[in-house]
Amino acid sequence: MKMFIQGQPADAQGADTIRVANPATGEIVDSVPKGGREDAKRAIDAASDAFKVWSEKPALERSRTLLKISETVRANVEDLGRTLTLEQGKPLGEAKSEINSFANTCEYYAGLIGRERGAQTPFSTGEGFFIVTKRPLGVVGAILPWNFPVSLMGWKVAPGLAAGDTFVVKPASTTPITDIKVASLMVKAGLPPGAVNVVTGPGGVVGEELLDNPKIAKIAFTGETGTGKRIMEGSSKSIKRLTLELGGSDPMIVCDDADLALAVEGAAWGRFRNCGQSCTSVKRLFLFDSIADEFIRAFVEKVKTIRVGNGLDASTHMGPVHTAEQRGKVEKMVEDAENRGAKDIVKGGRPTDKALQQGTFYAPAVLGGVDYDAMMAKEECFGPALPIFRVKDLEEALERANDTPYGLGSSVWTKDVEKAYHAAERIQAGTTWVNSPPIARAEVPFGGFKQSGFGRELGIEGLDHYYETKSIQFLEYGKGKKWAFPIN
Ligand code: NDP
Repeated sequence: MKMFIQGQPADAQGADTIRVANPATGEIVDSVPKGGREDAKRAIDAASDAFKVWSEKPALERSRTLLKISETVRANVEDLGRTLTLEQGKPLGEAKSEINSFANTCEYYAGLIGRERGAQTPFSTGEGFFIVTKRPLGVVGAILPWNFPVSLMGWKVAPGLAAGDTFVVKPASTTPITDIKVASLMVKAGLPPGAVNVVTGPGGVVGEELLDNPKIAKIAFTGETGTGKRIMEGSSKSIKRLTLELGGSDPMIVCDDADLALAVEGAAWGRFRNCGQSCTSVKRLFLFDSIADEFIRAFVEKVKTIRVGNGLDASTHMGPVHTAEQRGKVEKMVEDAENRGAKDIVKGGRPTDKALQQGTFYAPAVLGGVDYDAMMAKEECFGPALPIFRVKDLEEALERANDTPYGLGSSVWTKDVEKAYHAAERIQAGTTWVNSPPIARAEVPFGGFKQSGFGRELGIEGLDHYYETKSIQFLEYGKGKKWAFPIN
């Protein structure tokens, strides 16, 4: 598969390629060009030219194009979903729902633009008034991770295109194919060539060109906190606008009055969807002591029903961990917790099933008695292993929940609305779900507190991050005397 520049499949200048492997089988799905700085520059120039055209289109036309994109992507959900499963590993049902979520995001922003209301505001001195307008930013560099390659591309390109911006997308090197297919469908749906380009290649080369190039006005990044720090540093050279969506270590708090059956389902969904590789996966489970035994009994039964397998197999509930390196990190964290005295409530690990030996599978692990200094309590555990902590009450749960440098998602499970409100106000995280697993919705702003990043994606706030704010001041005729020079 080639890159996608100026509305066309494109080779890189160099002949090197990146091989994209299926995490379920180890087989090569396809290869993409190993692009370099020159290729990134070519795409940036294409996006810069396209900006002149796209930013001048009336909002209604941008809105119609986004709707057409949404329709086209939905019509291709079978092929795109399958491609996503092959390169990422997630079960086909999850992959298709990710493709549809891209379409939803386009529809949402298509509906927002062209319908804004504004106001003119008088100066406090009575000399005139001002209006505040919004201007598109220019070319945006979107740098994507491998866990949700398509929906996270949508979180960036949909609001950005709605605002009038254009894009150079740098997908993760292990999941570039579906993004290239989506970009090509966008142009088929009527997007001007060059408005969305996809350049494949190492983050340290293609990504760095996006950071260095003065024609890039903003970087929209989702990925690890460590990479986010580098992005911040690199963007400072030309003071680029930035949105950083970074890692999380989300707490789930189950109170003594919670609907336990619902919470058990929520914990399984929250931890094991996408093989535990979501930024807002449930990564630390806090149970009130009084319900802990009952919850754990039901949860163990639930976890034992999870079928691990190839995402293309209709009976699979959970696919492989995305790479061997990623699985190694999960194994290291589980081992570290066990060495510090944690007990296996459900013993996870590499499945023994012969059919799964070529893939990077890891069966769900649930651990109890985990030390608060263990790696999985302190850092982001990006895979299907869940530490359970017992707490005596909500205050202890909140104190523990906040004891992390992250602050992305969180959830509280209770039937008491006052308790839910109290917890939501005190958890230091961008989102608190009440009696729900972490589900992102196009209309709800999403982002982190603390080291989980800054800026917001989705919602009206997400659109605002793709504009510059421009103020225009008007003086009423005849009132200019107040600023006559010299000042006295
Ligand atoms: P990485 O940070 O490793 O990579 C993300 C992207 O950054 C990739 O495209 C990568 O390219 C690129 N990159 C790497 N180095 C540089 C650089 N120096 N300059 C510019 N770009 C660079 O994250 P992962 O792909 O491993 O994704 C998993 C992480 O993302 C998890 O920590 C997870 O929590 C977080 N995440 C956060 C979300 C949120 O909304 N807060 C949502 C989803 C994930 P390449 O692949 O070529 O290395």
